[in-house]
Amino acid sequence: SAKAAGSNQWSFFKEQMTERAAIRLSTEASLHDALKNNEFVLYFQPKLDINTNTVIGCEALIRWQKDGRLISPMSFIPVAEETGIIIPIGRWVIEQSCKVLRDWRKKYNYAIPIAVNVASQQFADASLVPDIKQFALRYQISPELLEIEITETSLMNDIEQAIMTLEQLKSAGFGIAVDDFGTGYSSLSYLRHLPITTMKIDRAFVNDLPEDSAIASTILMLGKQLGLSIVAEGIENEEQLDWLRENHCPIGQGFFYSKPLTLEEFEQRFIANQTAKIEHI
Ligand code: C2E
Ligand code: MG
Ligand code: MG
Ligand code: MG
Repeated sequence: SAKAAGSNQWSFFKEQMTERAAIRLSTEASLHDALKNNEFVLYFQPKLDINTNTVIGCEALIRWQKDGRLISPMSFIPVAEETGIIIPIGRWVIEQSCKVLRDWRKKYNYAIPIAVNVASQQFADASLVPDIKQFALRYQISPELLEIEITETSLMNDIEQAIMTLEQLKSAGFGIAVDDFGTGYSSLSYLRHLPITTMKIDRAFVNDLPEDSAIASTILMLGKQLGLSIVAEGIENEEQLDWLRENHCPIGQGFFYSKPLTLEEFEQRFIANQTAKIEHI
């Protein structure tokens, strides 16, 4: 009967929900263990000056080393955000990045900014700014070497909160980038007043280049008008890079330059025999 079918559907739905909740719980527990057992690792992807081909910074991207496999952030960051465990994980990412900056200075007398991704839950956490300042102090990092990336979507989620946090970070000297720009729904009137330093063009729009360039052009123009630095994400081929160079996009990131690398690989390829030094800092 229809009633029986409906009730079957309901119990099926309930089963699904219970299963999802169970997966969520087990993953939350294993994310806790992962943190405790040091199973997270940071990969580094360079950002290059498009005109000179020099490395001017990098982005730290988390992975989970679990039973010999490398798990992508896309499969655990959403759960970490849902459960709130993103806060200690995010804190680990920031501290780890500060340690790397200290090590580069000590080992190579070298300094380029590291960008870290920060989730909206971290932004709403009152200890974010004091934590960041403390790590910078502990590892003697000059604040412009740490850049905070926040997606356009989480920025606009709670704009009042975000502005307060961003203002504290910017006045302390940290860099602030809006990630995945163009995929969220920015209020242009807010954007004008946001204390940000950089806009990252989402890779979906870079992917459309060179044929379909309307959005990339518009973001470049907007960024320029607002006096922001602009990074094109997800550059995969020479045609995209040529378009970006011709259209005066200053900074690029993507597989065409390099995929994200382990710390050792990154140091080997980009730092060990570099001439960029930090005498000027
Ligand atoms: P995102 O911050 O926008 O990072 C860029 C993503 O694009 C990275 O994926 C990177 O590997 C990938 N990518 C870079 N160049 C190319 C390219 O040329 N082609 C393509 N197809 N992809 C490219 P990844 O490392 O898998 O990270 C995915 C997302 O996970 C990140 O997007 C970020 O939102 C999040 N994430 C990564 N690490 C962290 C973290 O420590 N904390 C938080 N909250 N989120 C993180
Ligand atoms: Mg990012
Ligand atoms: Mg992005
Ligand atoms: Mg993204």
